[in-house]
Amino acid sequence: METITTKYPEVKNYVGGQYVTSQRETMNIDSPLTGEIISKLPLSNYDDLDLAVKAAAAAFPIWSGMTYKERVQIFFRYRSLLEKNMDELTKLVQLENGKVYDEAKAEIEKSMELCEFAVSMPQIISNEVQEVSRGVECRIEKKPLGVVASIAPFNFPNMVPHWTMPNALVLGNTMIMKPSELVPLSAMRMAELLKEAGLPDGVFNVVNGGKEIVEAICDHPGIKAVSFVGSTKVAQIVYKRATSNLKRCVALGGAKNHLLVLPDAHPDMTASNVVASMSGCAGQRCMAAAVMVGVDKVQHIIDKMVDEAKKIVPGKNLGSVISKAAKERIEGYITAAEKAGAKVLVDGRNCVVEGKEGGFYVGPTILDYVTPEMSVAKEEIFGPVISIIRAKDLDEALKIENASPYGNAAAVFTQSGGLARLVMEKASAGMIGVNVGVPVPREPFSFGGWNDSKFGMGDITGKSSIEFWTQNKKTTIKWNAEAKTNWMS
Ligand code: NAD
Repeated sequence: METITTKYPEVKNYVGGQYVTSQRETMNIDSPLTGEIISKLPLSNYDDLDLAVKAAAAAFPIWSGMTYKERVQIFFRYRSLLEKNMDELTKLVQLENGKVYDEAKAEIEKSMELCEFAVSMPQIISNEVQEVSRGVECRIEKKPLGVVASIAPFNFPNMVPHWTMPNALVLGNTMIMKPSELVPLSAMRMAELLKEAGLPDGVFNVVNGGKEIVEAICDHPGIKAVSFVGSTKVAQIVYKRATSNLKRCVALGGAKNHLLVLPDAHPDMTASNVVASMSGCAGQRCMAAAVMVGVDKVQHIIDKMVDEAKKIVPGKNLGSVISKAAKERIEGYITAAEKAGAKVLVDGRNCVVEGKEGGFYVGPTILDYVTPEMSVAKEEIFGPVISIIRAKDLDEALKIENASPYGNAAAVFTQSGGLARLVMEKASAGMIGVNVGVPVPREPFSFGGWNDSKFGMGDITGKSSIEFWTQNKKTTIKWNAEAKTNWMS
């Protein structure tokens, strides 16, 4: 029998404020930094979910009965706990996801910012009241939905769960979190810190597993709304299944972000921004630069990009990709592009980091003279690879960007306000950068793409998420009912 040395005890489910052992089959969790097994997790099923839904439903009346001001007190304390435990949480993200320290730390800092937005909810939520007729008033109050669910991907084990959890809970819902089976440890720590902050049992529950538990979430009649973040293929499956079961759903999918580089762009700033965008978090960001469309004469900028990429040291300022399969997939794309005629300016294949020989590293890769029909130009690679397509003018560049079925982000690098404005107008993406390679909107601005990068109404964070996690209750009131006075006109 295989002996597994786990660095972390076997992951359980977290239901009603307790760890619950699932009797299901388990799977190993590898650290992508070294390839070593660090823990195991249960592949939960419908019955495991049902326990969590019952716990969340039992907690809902008390939690939703509290005022916003009471609920946010817990999140003030929780945010402080994130800060206090920053180093430990950062190292946990590193261990399970493979990021370098500063990237993992930035993730925790972003989680704190998401909590800051959530604690401002009493200031943001203003229910509407108006005297619609003499003596008669109409009011609208935002009410929570009940038990809701959040399904997360592997690439931001701490931050993406915070896109949904603080807002949904502060608005009065109770939640089932389903982390990626590749990185469940950060979500389990979230549950522990929420309890330490004073969150009542059952308000936040974690159910671990893969496809089966996602399907169970879409089907369970006790769950009112489902948010999903992951690949487009699964986002479509989840959106269709959850809405066919009459649930509210917002499902964020994959991306193929195009950066349009114009000849007048600032060379140093552009080169460092483009390379940082494509290689940060080992390219495993839905906001990463995937295609650079070089318009007209941009060779001087490409030369600088090559210099920038060569400064990157895997294992030091470039983390690992998530798995051996991911490394093989990414390297396969580079080889296919080379065979199809692309020029490999910087080659990240066969990357080995001394002392971490078992880790799944891919070095930064720049491919030039890519054509729009190559697989590297069309498909999401999710690794530190950028494909440069040459275009004669901005019209052609915009046509290339517009042809992508995705629409998460797009950016333009130029010093011309007029041309930047044109790209802002014409690019077919939900988040646009002007001289910004990773145009993530900061709170209170909401996050979400277009086209095949998002299914469902609204965005997942910020003010837009308030609509998603609440329903309006409309009340009409007549206070003075004296018979002789016709108040209701
Ligand atoms: P994924 O789609 O493989 O997994 C996401 C979640 O879905 C996981 O919890 C997983 O357990 C579950 N899942 C996987 N296959 C399933 C199936 N067949 N049926 C039901 N559930 C299933 O995504 P990933 O590999 O974890 O994350 C990377 C992807 O997420 C990339 O495509 C990336 O662009 C995307 N992403 C998008 C955003 C965004 O904001 N648009 C943000 C982060 C990541």
